[in-house]
Amino acid sequence: MEANIEVVTNDKEGRHLVAIEEFEQGQCLWSEKPILCGPRYSTYPVCLGCYEPVDGTVLCPKCGWPMCSEDCPFLENHTPECKVFQRKNVKVDTSTFKYQEVEPMYDIILPLRVLVLKAQDPTLAKQFFHLESHVTKWKQTKSWNGSHAKIWNYLKDTLSMETSQEEISNIFGILYTNDFLVDTVSGTSNVVAVYRDVSMCSHSCVPNAFKTFGSIQDGFSITLRAKQTIKKAENITISYVETFLPSAIRQEKMEYGKHFTCMCPRCSDPTDLGTFGNSLLCGSNCGGTVSKSKDKNDYKCEKCGRGMTKEIVQKIFNKAFKETEALLKSNSSTVVDLCEMFLSRYKTLLHPNNLLMLKVKYGLITMIGRIPGYQMNCLTLDQIIRKRRLCEDILRVLDVIDPGISSRRGVVLYELHMAQIMAAQLQYANDEIDILSAKEEFEESLRSLQQSIEMLQFEKPESFEGIIYQGAKPTLAPLRQHIQNEFGDL
Ligand SMILES: [Zn+2]
Ligand SMILES: [Zn+2]
Ligand SMILES: [Zn+2]
Ligand SMILES: [Zn+2]
Repeated sequence: MEANIEVVTNDKEGRHLVAIEEFEQGQCLWSEKPILCGPRYSTYPVCLGCYEPVDGTVLCPKCGWPMCSEDCPFLENHTPECKVFQRKNVKVDTSTFKYQEVEPMYDIILPLRVLVLKAQDPTLAKQFFHLESHVTKWKQTKSWNGSHAKIWNYLKDTLSMETSQEEISNIFGILYTNDFLVDTVSGTSNVVAVYRDVSMCSHSCVPNAFKTFGSIQDGFSITLRAKQTIKKAENITISYVETFLPSAIRQEKMEYGKHFTCMCPRCSDPTDLGTFGNSLLCGSNCGGTVSKSKDKNDYKCEKCGRGMTKEIVQKIFNKAFKETEALLKSNSSTVVDLCEMFLSRYKTLLHPNNLLMLKVKYGLITMIGRIPGYQMNCLTLDQIIRKRRLCEDILRVLDVIDPGISSRRGVVLYELHMAQIMAAQLQYANDEIDILSAKEEFEESLRSLQQSIEMLQFEKPESFEGIIYQGAKPTLAPLRQHIQNEFGDL
């Protein structure tokens, strides 16, 4: 590890990373290549060279695994399994593969690659086995099923690899506990990658660092950067889960996926740092806000004292969460209306700042102005003002729970700047605002654009956020010039 961050071990936090100098916002803390990577678990068939989807038309001539092109069998990523299959003169049976569905055969790849690493590079393998496995806790979860036994049998019997069932369990424990999911170039599939040092970084739902991933050419390296200023001796934290969710859902995901209960400032504050991101509205028409009780596990109305059990709240959240997931993935031509309907259906149940409401509002601001039927130039003034209002609602909360560099805030600020310009132009043309107010609005939009560019500068060029950044950056100077030309003398 480099001299500017170090690994510290204590009883309370276990192994974790600490800054030994001060870091400015955006500054790089650490970068490393993975110990190992491979296709994600329960994946549909992907190319083992580049991890893009495959359809079965090209197979590796040596081992029979489906590839996406004639060149991919020769990529280094694919060497471990290709050699093992060749050595045993076995070809993988793809006759039963359904290319749109999960193919369990792919679950043998990661443990196989670990075993090959153990034989070929014991030093690197040692780093892998040094990571926490939580295997006893994993064995108690329902996801820990008999599939590992099948994998073990295949590796041992069909491929004659030397391993024990215990070792396979341990490998999966380490993978599940320490994995990072990295997007492929097309963004259609994910790669599991395990890193030596970043795996030791602690979690917080208000982290002070964030991670970005390199491309496949770059070997899927990971880079940690300061999200906000990090002081000397401060614990470096990243978030293991999506932070844009109510704590009840975040906690469930962390307990299930990482076996720990988060005690970060957000999780220990029933009001989610005063934003009410986890809150509901009281059903007894008192107009009060229902938040988690500080000492107890249930929820209570601050006005009339009416209580709600944790189980009921969890049920409401899980149902709404499922609905948001489906909505935001939907290709329906009426998706904007469906999102608005969601907001009005939950209006009396969830606090307007509840993160599930905000998630749908976030979806809406990226749709209004972009999707067919809602492109910027066909929006009415009311629609533009609705977009601006939604952006402001989201930012008020994100400024508190997601401070510093944040791709989500970057997107909202970009969308806000668009709505600010359009609204100012239309309102000024309609004589609804005077020239001084128009100037102010334009200057406000310039500030939003500047901040947005700052927030999005670290995004991958092919991602949604990266594409916004590429489009935003060249418009900064012309917007500044336009303001100067139109309002310079005022
Ligand atoms: Zn490929
Ligand atoms: Zn092969
Ligand atoms: Zn937390
Ligand atoms: Zn009440």
